[in-house]
Amino acid sequence: MRPLAAETMMFKAAVLHDVGKPCGLEANSTKYLAGDAFFESATRAVRTHGGFGCAKAFHVERYFREAIIGLIAPVSQQLMLCHIAEKALGLPKSY
Ligand SMILES: Cc1cc2nc3c(=O)[nH]c(=O)nc-3n(C[C@H](O)[C@H](O)[C@H](O)COP(=O)(O)OP(=O)(O)OC[C@H]3O[C@@H](n4cnc5c(N)ncnc54)[C@H](O)[C@@H]3O)c2cc1C
Repeated sequence: MRPLAAETMMFKAAVLHDVGKPCGLEANSTKYLAGDAFFESATRAVRTHGGFGCAKAFHVERYFREAIIGLIAPVSQQLMLCHIAEKALGLPKSY
């Protein structure tokens, strides 16, 4: 479900960007969902391989290590949520 949600949100952000409309909310939502999807997929891949999933000889170890980056950079998921809270929910700026 999450990869599909990320893809749908990505296309929405791209369309808004192409017509010159603000797309920060959609872009942040895309990044949040895609980061989660990558991390979930990488975790499942490692677990599917069992102990070998942790061995450097298998690429899934690298996918797992790299999947955490999407949750941290270029901004952390918490800051994406801060943006959504402020712009979509009208909550006060929290940072
Ligand atoms: C592989 C990699 C490459 C990078 N490349 C670049 C680059 O080329 N150029 C560049 O400028 N930077 C780069 N960075 C840095 C990256 O942009 C920062 O790591 C990222 O913005 C997170 O900031 P931070 O590391 O200061 O962590 P922090 O912001 O200190 O986050 C630490 C923790 O605190 C939480 N947190 C922070 N603020 C809030 C808040 N307001 N509310 C709730 N929780 C919060 C975070 O979610 C996280 O859990 C890179 C980082 C990595 C890992």
